[in-house]
Amino acid sequence: MAVYLDANASEPPRPLALDAARRALALTGNPASVHGPGRAARALLDSARETLARLLDARPGDIVFTSGATEANALALHALPAGRSVLVGATEHDSVLAAAPSATRLAVDRDGVIDLDAAAAALARGPAFVAVMAANNETGTIQPLPALAALCRRHGAWLHVDAVQGLGRGPVPPGDSLAISGHKLGGPPGAGALVLRGPTGAPRPLIAGGGQERGWRAGTPPLAAIAGLAAAAEAAFAAGPAETARLAPLRDAIIAAAEAAGAVALASGAPLLANTACLALPGVRADAQVIALDLAGIAVSAGAACSSGKVAPSHVLAAMGLGALAGQAIRVSLPWNATAAEAEAFIAAYPAIAARLAGALRGPRGCSTPAPEPRPAAA
Ligand code: PLP
Repeated sequence: MAVYLDANASEPPRPLALDAARRALALTGNPASVHGPGRAARALLDSARETLARLLDARPGDIVFTSGATEANALALHALPAGRSVLVGATEHDSVLAAAPSATRLAVDRDGVIDLDAAAAALARGPAFVAVMAANNETGTIQPLPALAALCRRHGAWLHVDAVQGLGRGPVPPGDSLAISGHKLGGPPGAGALVLRGPTGAPRPLIAGGGQERGWRAGTPPLAAIAGLAAAAEAAFAAGPAETARLAPLRDAIIAAAEAAGAVALASGAPLLANTACLALPGVRADAQVIALDLAGIAVSAGAACSSGKVAPSHVLAAMGLGALAGQAIRVSLPWNATAAEAEAFIAAYPAIAARLAGALRGPRGCSTPAPEPRPAAA
C-alpha cells in the first residue's frame, strides 16, 4: 500500500464526507422541482449552503456552488473585475493566471511571500481587483492576508482569495470573495464554491441556462459532491487545530531528514502550512525524484512538469527567484490522517534515494526518464 504524501493535490476522503455523499446519492429529486422529492433534495442543498456560510463568515445567499476551485476562480475573474485593473500574485494557481492573462503580477520574495509595498504601489494607481491565495499549494507559503485585506479596503479594491489550501487550519480568510474546493478538504471531487461576500450587482455567469445558484451558475447541482463538501468542511474546521498540532512535527522531521541528506527546504523563511514541505535536491530533476520515491512506494509530487523533452520549472518557484532549483523541487504534503509511520517511511527512504540520484543524474539536463530502479521486494 503506497504511503500517500500528496494531500495538496487531493486529500483522502473524510469518513463524515463519505457518509454525507452516500446519503445524498440515494436521493432521487432535483432541487429545482417543487414536489416532495425535489423539496427533500432542496433541503439538503440549503443545509450544505448554510453550513459553508457559517464556517466562512458569509450568508447562505453568498455561496455559489461550482464544480471546484478552478471554476470558482474563473467565475470570479470573469464576473467581478468590471472596470478595474487586475492584480494577481505571481505564485497564484494556474486557474487564476489562465483566467487573467493580462493581469499585473504582484512580485513575491524568495519565500514566496507577496511584496506588500509593490501591492500598495499598484493599488494606489486606481480601482483594482486583487487575487491572492491564502496559502500556496506547492510551497505551503501562507500569505499575509490580513495586511493585504487592510490595504485593499483602504484603496477600495476587491480582494478575491483562493482559499483552497489550508482551509480550516487557521483563521477564516478575509476577502470579498473566496474560492474553495471539496477534494482539498477531504470531500469528493466535483464540488467547490465561490463565496461572494462583497456587493456584486447582477449575476454574470460563465455558464448560463436554468438560472440555478441565483443566476450565477446554471446546471443541476451535484448534490452528493456538495453534501460531501459541506461535511468535509465541517470536519476540517473542527479538526483543524488538532491536525495542525499533529502534522507540523511530522513535517519538521521530514524537512530535517531531507536537509541532512543534502536537500534545500524552500520557503523556509515564511509561515508555512503545517502539512507541506517543498524540498529541492540540487542538481537532480524533480521528476526523477518523484519516480524514485514512487518506486519505493511513496507518493509525492513535483513542482515541475515534464513534457516535449524538457523539464518545465514550476512558475511558483521561478517567481521566487530560485533559478535551477525551480526544476529540482518536490512537494511533500501530509494528508489529514497521516501517521508518524508514514512520515518515517519517507525519512527512511529519502537519504538513499537522494544519494543515488545525486550521484547518477547530476549533470546533463533534459527530460529523459532515468533508468528504472528495481522495485522493492514485496513484504
Ligand atoms: N487553487 C489552488 C491553490 C489549488 O491548489 C488548486 C488545485 O490544485 C486549485 C485552485 C484548483 O482546484 P480544483 O481542483 O477544485 O479545480
